[in-house]
Parts: sequence; structure tokens; C-alpha cells
Amino acid sequence: MKRRNFIGSSVLGVGALALCGCYKEENKDRNKVTVQKKVTLKLATSWPAHFPIMGTGVDNFANKCFELSGGTLEIKVYPKNILVPAMQVFDATSASQIDAFHSGVYYWKGKNSAFSIFGGMPLGLTSEEMLTWLKFGGGMELWRELYAKFNLYPLVGGSTGPQMGGWFKKPINSLSDLKGLKMRIPGLGGEVLKRLGVNPILLPAGEIYTSLERGTIDATEWVGPALDRMMGFDKAADYYYTGWHEPGSILEITFNKERWDKLSPQHQAIITTVSEEMTGTMVEEFRYKNAKALAELPKHIKIKNFPKEVMDSAKVALKEVLKDESQKNPDFKRVLKSYNRFSKLNKKWDDISTKNFLNIRN
Ligand code: CA
Repeated sequence: MKRRNFIGSSVLGVGALALCGCYKEENKDRNKVTVQKKVTLKLATSWPAHFPIMGTGVDNFANKCFELSGGTLEIKVYPKNILVPAMQVFDATSASQIDAFHSGVYYWKGKNSAFSIFGGMPLGLTSEEMLTWLKFGGGMELWRELYAKFNLYPLVGGSTGPQMGGWFKKPINSLSDLKGLKMRIPGLGGEVLKRLGVNPILLPAGEIYTSLERGTIDATEWVGPALDRMMGFDKAADYYYTGWHEPGSILEITFNKERWDKLSPQHQAIITTVSEEMTGTMVEEFRYKNAKALAELPKHIKIKNFPKEVMDSAKVALKEVLKDESQKNPDFKRVLKSYNRFSKLNKKWDDISTKNFLNIRN
């Protein structure tokens, strides 16, 4: 009886709304159809054409924007060095020579060292945690604010998942084995190793294999099993160390801000949504392909953890690097504060959830 009364009054309620016309009036704008003008954007990347996972990821991004917009949003993808050199995509987009770029965030730490934190932290947050800090913990607001000074509007454009610690020609058994070691390693990880006696070297991707094979360098990091095997590193070094310096590196798909502001809300919504889809897919693709490539690694490759004394010293050196950079750059200090606030909040929950569960599962 009670139920019948409830249904009866609900039907009456909707009827009353329809009679007064309020319902219709409220939804009027939702029925309006906007005709989109065709927009074509030029996007340059820092990768070779259709480079696995990163390059194919941005190709798919452009295709999905085109499909979802009914063909009104065309993003033309230019691989590295076609329109602009790989390491000049930031400047070219900032100066409105092109409309957007897809690259790695830590490449731009020379513009502002704070940017390296948006790209990920040695011994820090994983991909999932980084994405959470950026979306919910205030990271993205800071990133947008600092990039606006360069006339840029950033979106996350993928993440690599945990990276490996790198390929070494000889085993690392103690801190002293690091002294004078020549290693290709960029970013904050390189800064940390420098304080442990390593000589960090930057090399263009095309020169790393030959340098390692000939012994011009003693070690190199790259990404993980899938992309590392493509580079042939398993043929030039026998020791493959587990990761610590890039637990969750963030890639970016960044737009010229003036150009972004002039896009229609529909095109902005499509780009934002597809960039999130792209990020999720890239993390899954890295996980799957790394797992598969690891299973297929040649048998003579020895997978090792760095000794505890090396990782303990890396933690101390990282603290010093962060302290020094915070003193030099107020932006770095502010971004690090936000990052640390989230890390602290996240740790307690992660300890009793993911970390605890993985221990139980093992
Ligand atoms: Ca790397």
C-alpha cells in the first residue's frame, strides 16, 4: 500500500513539472546543437615516428580526437626532427610556432628545476600515485600555473610505470664500485648518483648502444625490458639492475596556451578526456609488454638489486639534492611541499592497502 502511494506521488510529481514547463525550460540548453568549425593543430613529439608505446600512444590520441569530434578536430602528429628538433618542442610550442607537443617533463628542468618534480621523483611516487597527486592533490594546478608563464597548457600524456635501474657491464657490490663509473642517466637520478661518485653522462638515444658496447660508458638506464631490448642493451651488458630512480615517470601532452584558450569547450573536453584514456592505456601497455619482454630475456642476463648501502646512500643524497634545489628555487620548494604533503597522506593508506596486500599475496 505504502509503495503504491510512493509511485503514485512520483508520477504526479513528474507530471506537475511537465505541466508547469519547468523541466523543459531547464533542459533547453542541453538540446542546443553546436556546429563545430574544423580545427587543425600541429603537434610535434620527441620520439621517432610510431615509436612503440609512446609514439603509437600519441598516434592513437590524435585518431581518437578526430573520431570523437566527428572529424572537426584534426591533430597532425609530427615525429621528432620533422618540424622541430626533439629537444626544442617546448620552445617551439611556447613561441606559437607549433600548437602542441608530446614529450617527457624532466627534459625541461633547465627552464625551471620545479618541472622535474612533475616528471617524477627518484625513490618517490609510482605512476598511479603521481597521477593521483596531479589530479586530486594539487599538482596539476601548480603545473598549469608554472607552465602558463611559458604560454603553455599541460595535460598528462602517459606514464611509464616503474623503470629499471639500468644495464651494467660489471656487478655493483658496494658503494666503492660506483666511484668514477660512467653512466648514461638523466634527471634527478643522475644528480643523486653524481653525489655517490658516478659520472652521469647525457647521450642522444642513437649513441647509447655503441657507447655501452665499446665500453665508452660502463652503464646506462633507459626504460624497462620492452624498450630496453629494442635498444639491444642485453647484448652489450650482463647485469640488469632493478629500479629506484624513475618509479613513475610522467609524460606530457602540452598545448600553446593562447591556442588552447581559443578552442571550443567541446574540443577542449575531447582532448582532456582522450589524454586521460591515453594515459591509462599507456600504463597498461607498459605493464604488459615489460612483463612479456622480461619473460623472454636471454638466460645469461643477471637481474640484481643494488646493495642496501647503495640505496641507503642514495636516499641521503636525494635529501641533499632536494634541500639544495629548494634553497635555490622558490618554485621547486613550493611544488616539493605539495608533493610531500600528498606523499605523507598517501603513505599510511598505501602501507595498509597495496603494500600490505602485495606482501600477503606473495
Ligand atoms: Ca629512464
